[in-house]
Amino acid sequence: MERRLVITVDGPAGSGKSTVSRILAKRISYMYLDTGLLYRAVAWRAMHNGVFITDDEALGRLCDGITIPQETDGEMRVLVEGADISGDLRTEEVGMLASSLSAVPAVREALLPLQKSAGRQGGIVAEGRDMGTVVFPDADVKFFLDADVDERARRRYLQLIENGKNADRGEVKRGLEVRDHQDTTREIAPLKPADDSVIIDTTGTDIEGVVVKMAGIVEERARGGSGPVC
Ligand code: C5P
Repeated sequence: MERRLVITVDGPAGSGKSTVSRILAKRISYMYLDTGLLYRAVAWRAMHNGVFITDDEALGRLCDGITIPQETDGEMRVLVEGADISGDLRTEEVGMLASSLSAVPAVREALLPLQKSAGRQGGIVAEGRDMGTVVFPDADVKFFLDADVDERARRRYLQLIENGKNADRGEVKRGLEVRDHQDTTREIAPLKPADDSVIIDTTGTDIEGVVVKMAGIVEERARGGSGPVC
């Protein structure tokens, strides 16, 4: 590939964006940036430090000392003041609190420079909720992945079971709906497709099919073409 691009992948929980972003990044030898882990790390710290969701200033301070997530031994890892807390971040409880505190302006502002710095050199697949709209508005390629809520709940449920966690499918679906509502209606950086994003509905499609489609669009853009608009 000729140019090292900034590629953004946004979408709701369970849309498949983490899985495909990671595979895509590997395939084209780009860095993968999972920004959800940053918000989850802040949520984890808030829980462990007894910081209330109403304490904007303290929440903003909790963003200090969090590192850009990196892959080690096949796992995305984030460090907080040097300690690896990655294993504790993938729970529904942490995800829900992350969604609530991600609406706090002090948190979003504090995490912004860290995310921007990760993309400075290009060659990145950045995944989250506001990658194409706020963090990398000038990204070369923007994707927005979506899927039917039942399918997303099924995927999330299976993921939790696979990871040895207890889960109830109905509860997982209700949790997703609450998070969807919080993430799309917050005032600051709400979840929405950027105007110039390629929207892909992953309902009923296999991962490989989505990755191949995305890689094709990226390759086209890297060669300087405007790429197919879906
Ligand atoms: O993607 P993940 O489920 O790990 O994200 C957890 C929560 O973090 C999301 O529900 C969302 O509220 C928040 N988030 C965000 N902006 C991002 C990434 C995640 O607001 N760029």
